[in-house]
Amino acid sequence: MINFEELKLDSLILKGVDKAGFERPSPIQEQAIGPLLKGQDVIGQAKTGTGKTAAYALPLLQAVDVKSRLVQALVLAPTRELAVQITNEIRRLGVYTGIKVVTIYGGQSINVQFEALNHGVHAVVGTPGRLIDHIKRGSLDLDSVKFVILDEADTMLDMGFIDDIEYILGRVPARRQTGLFSATMPSRIIELSRKFMKNPQKILIDSDEPSVETLDQYYAVVDPREKLHFLAGLLEREKPASAMIFCRTKYGAHRLAGELRARNYPAVPLHGNLSQHQRDHSMNTFRSGNVDILVATDVASRGIDIPQVECVVNYDVPTDPLIYFHRVGRTARAGKRGKSYILVTTDEYDDFTRVLHHTKAPIKPLRDSDKQFGFEARRNSGSYGGGYWATRPRNSFYRRGRIHR
Ligand code: ADP
Repeated sequence: MINFEELKLDSLILKGVDKAGFERPSPIQEQAIGPLLKGQDVIGQAKTGTGKTAAYALPLLQAVDVKSRLVQALVLAPTRELAVQITNEIRRLGVYTGIKVVTIYGGQSINVQFEALNHGVHAVVGTPGRLIDHIKRGSLDLDSVKFVILDEADTMLDMGFIDDIEYILGRVPARRQTGLFSATMPSRIIELSRKFMKNPQKILIDSDEPSVETLDQYYAVVDPREKLHFLAGLLEREKPASAMIFCRTKYGAHRLAGELRARNYPAVPLHGNLSQHQRDHSMNTFRSGNVDILVATDVASRGIDIPQVECVVNYDVPTDPLIYFHRVGRTARAGKRGKSYILVTTDEYDDFTRVLHHTKAPIKPLRDSDKQFGFEARRNSGSYGGGYWATRPRNSFYRRGRIHR
């Protein structure tokens, strides 16, 4: 393992790293910082919470010449929250360098952003839509940008930003360095990188597969009408100091947060239908510990740094198994213990089976009554035809579920 001094960072940047309290580079930092400092394009994949931001923020700080007042670095991020968080991390690490960073996102007054851009900034962190607004209005000139990062590239693609990304990258000089960071590496990202990157170095640290040692994962088969009752019982028994509950839809997340509050559980929602102010309020009250429960959709919560939650509840089963790993990756971080629960209804059996086929760590039945469904046998077993898309649990519950779907 190396330390930050060996990474050939400027002394003022190292001073910032020291002030931030970082002792050693994380694996993604250890591997990505060197190539980025040398000017290479880099694709970096590592799970949420492993320090991807600093992995590109430190080389970004080194690439920027603060004596010039031109925009030299651009970071694209999928959500407002993430953009703000990235800006804060760059400012924190660059506190001794004199870098000026601005965040550009929809939901904030465009005039405030005009003013910030007019004052001269070295780096811009923003969400694609609002960045394009500024480019079209002439308030953001990318001609001098030499360092571009796509952060949470998987989420940006999931949110349909592909055309926006193409538009923006088309306005950055071709003589630039491009980094792409993501928690997962679906093939669409590789396609994107082929189009926009020059011979990128690929650094794949690990997937969002949770750690077997520190995360206890449970499933419970629940009647759809009993979900809320079940969840209340779970919260009552576990009394987690902090919990994230994931729902598939914005509406579902909103309603569930309301239902929990009606039962005197301190819960706030986080989803894309809320205003910027409401989302900030939810995040602030949750981070400060004033409420214990955040009820979120996957997209709204992706990439947001929440130091540590004790417990993750999958209120429904995600259709993409990788989303399950994103979700449970919110707990059992940095060697701490965590628990996760997934509520499975009959018409979610095939989705849940896909999750099981993707994980090496066991997801255990929560209660004796959950054992009878035989999910254990489905984990990693080749007896269902090998590929996980081919799996079809064969029992009557499943078939009943299909008919009503
Ligand atoms: P990711 O982008 O991979 O989800 P973040 O960049 O948000 O992860 O980092 C998660 C947290 O870890 C942040 O609070 C960040 O400040 C902190 N962190 C990053 N690198 C280090 C390090 N080398 N040592 C200690 N803490 C770090």
